[in-house]
Amino acid sequence: MSIDTIGVVGAGQMGAGIAQVAASVGLNVICSDINQDACDRGHAAIAKSLGRLVKKERMSQEDADAALARVRFSTDLAAMSEADFVVEAATENEGLKAKIFGDLDRICAPGVILATNTSSISITRIGAATNRPEQVVGMHFMNPVPIMKLVELISGIATSETTAATTQALAERLGKTVSHSKDYPGFVVNRILMPMINEAFYALYEGIGSAEDIDTGMKLGTNQPMGPLTLADFIGLDTCLAIMRVLHEGLGDAKYRPCPLLIQYVDAGWFGRKSGRGVYDYSEA
Ligand code: NAD
Repeated sequence: MSIDTIGVVGAGQMGAGIAQVAASVGLNVICSDINQDACDRGHAAIAKSLGRLVKKERMSQEDADAALARVRFSTDLAAMSEADFVVEAATENEGLKAKIFGDLDRICAPGVILATNTSSISITRIGAATNRPEQVVGMHFMNPVPIMKLVELISGIATSETTAATTQALAERLGKTVSHSKDYPGFVVNRILMPMINEAFYALYEGIGSAEDIDTGMKLGTNQPMGPLTLADFIGLDTCLAIMRVLHEGLGDAKYRPCPLLIQYVDAGWFGRKSGRGVYDYSEA
C-alpha cells in the first residue's frame, strides 16, 4: 500500500512535531486529539515551528504554508479511517494506548500499520490490544521531532518483518536515521537516559547541588547539549515519571524507583516547559 496520508493521534509536543515533519515531505496528515483546544494548540505549534524554519531560511514561506495546509485536525478518532499509516503519540499511559489501539483497529482499513511513539511501553502488549499485532510497531521519535535525527524502531513479538521494513522506509522518507531496539521496558534510549535524569532528581532532592549546578556540571562536564534537569523539563516531567514507572515495574529492580521529588513536581502539575513550570520557571518564556 502506498503511503500518501498519515494519521497522527495526539497533537501535543510529539504529535505536532510528527505531523509537521510528515507534512513537510509532502504527506497529507490527519491529526486527532481529544478536544478542539488541544487541536488548536497543535496547529499553533506547527505554525510557530515552521515560522522559525522560514526565519532561519531553512524553508521558503511558500513551502511552509503548503505544509501547514496539508495538516487537518479532528476531535474524532474515526477520521483515521482515511490514513494509510497511523502514528499514535497520545499521553504515555498504557490503558489509554490500549484503548486507542483497539479503536484504531476497528477504524482503520485492514493492512494499515499502527505505530506507537511510546517512550517505554511494551509494543507486544499494545499489539495484543488489536486483531493485527503483526502490523503494530514502535516508532519512537525524539523531541523536538523536526530537529532530532533519530527514530528508534521497536518490533513487538508479533510484528512482521514487512511492517518493520515499511516503518523504517517511512522514517527514512521523513529524513530520519533508524536504530533498532528489542521490546523491553524503555527500549534502548530511555533505558539509559531516564535513570540518568532520575538520578539528577535524586541529586537535587538530596541537596548535593542546586538545579543549576547539576545542569552545568553535566552539560560542561560530560559534553551534553543541555543538563539533565533542563532536558527533563523539555521532555515533560509527567512523561519522565511515566517512563520511570514502566522501568521500575517492568524490570523489578529498586534502582529504577522514581525520585520522590519528581513525583511531587508531577503531583503539583509542574510538567516542565509545556505547563510553564517544571524544575525551572517558564512563565515569562
Ligand atoms: P503531550 O502531553 O505534549 O501530548 C499528549 C497529547 O495526547 C495531548 O495533546 C493529549 O490531549 C493527547 N491525548 C490524550 N488522550 C488522547 C486520546 N484519547 N486521543 C487523542 N489524543 C489524546 O505529550 P508528548 O510529549 O507529545 O508525548 C506523547 C507520546 O510521545 C508519549 O507516549 C510519550 O512518551 C512519547 N514521547 C515523548 C517524548 C518527549 O520528549 N516528550 C519523546 C519521545 C516520545
